[in-house]
Parts: sequence; structure tokens; C-alpha cells
Amino acid sequence: MTSDSQQVRIARRMKGIQYAVRDVVSLARERAAAGGDLIFLNIGDPCQFDFKTPGHVIEAIIRALRDDKTSYTASEGLAEAREAVRRDASERQGILGVRDVFTGNGASELIEALLTALLDPGEAVLVPRPGYPLYTAVLGKLEARGVYYDLDERDGWHPDADRIEDLVDCTDDVRAIVLINPNNPTGSVTDRATLEQILDIAARRNLLVISDEIYDQLLIDDVEMVATASLRDDVVIATFGGLSKVWLGPGLRMGWCILSGPEHKTRTVCDALAQLLRARLSASHPVQFGVKPALEGPMDHVAEVNTRLRERRDVMVEQLEAIPGWSLAPPQGAFYAFPKVELGIPDTQVVRELIMDHGVVLVHGSGFGAQDPNHVRLVFLPPPDLLREAFSRIGTYSARYA
Ligand code: PLP
Repeated sequence: MTSDSQQVRIARRMKGIQYAVRDVVSLARERAAAGGDLIFLNIGDPCQFDFKTPGHVIEAIIRALRDDKTSYTASEGLAEAREAVRRDASERQGILGVRDVFTGNGASELIEALLTALLDPGEAVLVPRPGYPLYTAVLGKLEARGVYYDLDERDGWHPDADRIEDLVDCTDDVRAIVLINPNNPTGSVTDRATLEQILDIAARRNLLVISDEIYDQLLIDDVEMVATASLRDDVVIATFGGLSKVWLGPGLRMGWCILSGPEHKTRTVCDALAQLLRARLSASHPVQFGVKPALEGPMDHVAEVNTRLRERRDVMVEQLEAIPGWSLAPPQGAFYAFPKVELGIPDTQVVRELIMDHGVVLVHGSGFGAQDPNHVRLVFLPPPDLLREAFSRIGTYSARYA
């Protein structure tokens, strides 16, 4: 017999680390093991459906492999990839005062590196709620504090700059504000005026702004997407992007971080990030050969993807509106929706029952930090017929609680 005292003791910090999107998969496995079918609306991976990484990006990576680009490369990133990101940042995104660019194994790696370089234990970062769980997980690891600003559902899930200012005012040791735009999990796109107000707060309090713009070209309804760092050059801003979403290649694990702001303020964070990246040697060498062709090659796929996303978003809105108990602020960017579900039971129960009884995999909103446990997140990436099937099952399920 093994007593508890013989088990490997796990660090306390593990309590703060959850990733709901993947955590629901164990339930899905249980249903699959029992022979049930599944429709996955839980994970933001377009390649699970009828979307493909553009051929010229794949070809460039294959060529790099054939040319034996399998050594380590520079820790900050391959020179031609960094140069392409820098050019795109200045020319397309209009980012002002670009100081440095780093590539990494997904934006995730660089987000973690930046927060690690920035924060001492106990220091605070403002994070949107609901929001992408990576930020909370990394802050947990670093024993730093996430201070959450609520996105306003009645206002299409937009951030409220006045609330952010109040939070900054009443919180000690705030170091940074995180913006996720377009937002995961709500699909909202932040307007220029709100970004300007948030930048004003950051400038007055000398805070770093982390602008996660990994979905920046996945836009529906001609909504205007403004790169935060295109609005001011006197605030230190870290903008994140990558191949995962706009170039439909999440498994390539290639992302970038653009640091902008005044030279004298930005140098320390650039140096610290470079120092941390040296400790992990380098990002994937061959995959970095996909970055320049991605940024400088044909972009026709983006218009096609956005057309499909618009069609699928509209199917989802029409279907959801017909189901009693469900309501939705329609998303305008990325490929996520965060509907309200008022069936008189908590979100975790809705998710569990939908998986186990109907084979539809969603994620509970509380997994994204939502305070009121009456939301779920779903992706509207599947083709219209599969989406209709999913919502038909959701309708049948919801009738149980009518
Ligand atoms: N940032 C946001 C807002 C995301 O939604 C995701 C992935 O879903 C990431 C970052 C991770 O990006 P990457 O695949 O480049 O690590």
C-alpha cells in the first residue's frame, strides 16, 4: 500500500493553474469511450475543421527542412523572420517606435517570458475578465497577482476604461494592463476611443501595456481593428501576434512579440526578454522560415476565412436566438462566442450534460474567469451543417429545463 506521504509532493503554485479549454477533453474522452459521437466546439483550432495553413507557408517550412535548417538558431529569432515582423508592424499595423522584435514557440511562450521578465512575486497585472486563461496560469506560476477588470456584456463585452482606472487607483504594485483584442473568449473588438483612454491611464501611471492581437485580421462586419501600439509612442507596449490564428497554423507553434515605446524606457525589458530567451536556446528553426512568406506573401486566405466566419457566425446567432434560455452579444472578431445560458443550473453542469448526453463539447465560462456562472464559450469554426446539428442538440438539451 502507498501512503499519501510517499506521493510526490506537488508545488502549491499548481493550484492556480487551470486551462478549461483542454480540461473538458477528459469528459469528452469518457463519452467517446462509451461509444458516443462528439462535436467539438471547445478549441480554437481552425485546422480541426475545413481551414488549412496557406500552401506557400508550408512550402517554405518544408524547403527549410530540406535545406537542413535543423540547427539551433538565434535566441531572439531568425533574422529574416524578425525583420519581416518589424516591417509588418511598422507598415501594416502602423506601430510607432518599434524597438525590438522576438520570435518564439507560439505567442504563449513569449507572453510567459515577458511576464517572467517583468514581475516579482506579489506584483499585479490588470487582466480582462472573462479572458484567455493563459494569463491567469502564468501569473499563478510567478506568484504574481491578476487583478481583473470586467468586460461589460451589455456593452458587447467591451472594456470600460473608467473601471480600469479605478482599479489601477486602488491596487498596489500594478505593473501592466493586458488587452486581448480581438477578444478570446467573447469575440469583441475594442474601439479606438477606449484604447486611447487606456493608453492615457498607462502613460500617467507608467504601466506597460500588453496587447494580445493574435486574431488581428480575423474580423467580421467591417469592424475597425486598431493596433494599440499605433496610437502612442510614449508608452511601452508589447504586441503579440503569430501564425496560429490568422495563418491557420496553431500547431506550427510560431509567434512574435513586438516591443515599442520610448528608447530609454523600453531598453530594460528588451534586454531582459533577450536574456530569458537565451536560457531556452532558440525557437523552432525551420518553422521560422514560414514567417517572412506569411507576412509578405499572398493574403487572399484572410478574406476567404472572414467570409466563412461571417456565414458561420450568422448561422450560430440565428440558431441560438431560437433556443429559450440562450442569448448572445454577437462576436465581431476571432472565432469565439460567449453566450449567456439561463437554464437555472451552473455552467459546469451545462457543459457536463451537453458532453455526456448530447456529445456537444463547449467550455464553461467560469473557466475564463466569468464571475456569473451562466456563460459558455464556443467556437463557430465548424461548417454550417455541423453547426446546425450542434445547435439542434443544444436545443433538445435545453428543452429539458424549459
Ligand atoms: N493569445 C490568445 C488571446 C489566444 O486565444 C491564444 C490561443 O488560443 C494564444 C494567445 C496562444 O497563441 P499561440 O498559439 O501563438 O501560442
